[in-house]
Amino acid sequence: MELRRLTDRVFYSMHNKEVDRPVLGYIYGRKYSLMVDSGNSKRHVQLFNDAISDERLRKPDFIAITHWHWDHSFGMNAVEGITFANKKTNDKLAEMAKWKWTDSEMKKRLETKLEIEFADSSIRKEYPVLSEIQVSTSDISYDGKMEIDLGDIVAELHPIVSPHSEDCSCIFIPQERVLFIGDAVGVDYYNNCYLDKGKLHCLITTIENYDFDICVMGHAEPVSKLDILNIMSSLLER
Ligand SMILES: [Zn+2]
Repeated sequence: MELRRLTDRVFYSMHNKEVDRPVLGYIYGRKYSLMVDSGNSKRHVQLFNDAISDERLRKPDFIAITHWHWDHSFGMNAVEGITFANKKTNDKLAEMAKWKWTDSEMKKRLETKLEIEFADSSIRKEYPVLSEIQVSTSDISYDGKMEIDLGDIVAELHPIVSPHSEDCSCIFIPQERVLFIGDAVGVDYYNNCYLDKGKLHCLITTIENYDFDICVMGHAEPVSKLDILNIMSSLLER
């Protein structure tokens, strides 16, 4: 896995469509480093940590989760740092931590529509041994805005309204003018790919108000502020 440099102190690794691995972020501070999203498995975390050490950077001290979806959160058990998730994300993770990861239980969740086909098939690809799946809540749960001083650079964690999921947070690095938004710009796969235009409108206003140059999404190449605003406007007109 390749670690790409976005700015002086901000890096990311690319997404992988095959097994639905999202983009992971890395912010390097003088005292601490922060990873954005924990990846979808121990293997994903390992590849990321290898890429970090190839660049002679230190392993993440903190990990901030953008939302509960498995591809962003199932690596939480494998990371070594302290994990942060907002309260809504943690409530969902607490619910999933009780789920059993067997073929029959997963099929039941598909029948009852607790789970969706796309996640089910991707999870099965990433985890040939389903019993390896371990879901846990974060070490630190926050409600409202949270700031982490990494040493000469601050990361802001903001819960935001998004049409993709009820629990989205974005991670804003004002000093480097980078905004990590996870999958916030997207439809709700757990509700028949419904696009709540009211929530999208709210998200557009939120994103417009951040002062940034580069926006990092969960499953795409980073884009400019103008590009992400254009993507959202075209979604709104759909
Ligand atoms: Zn998602």
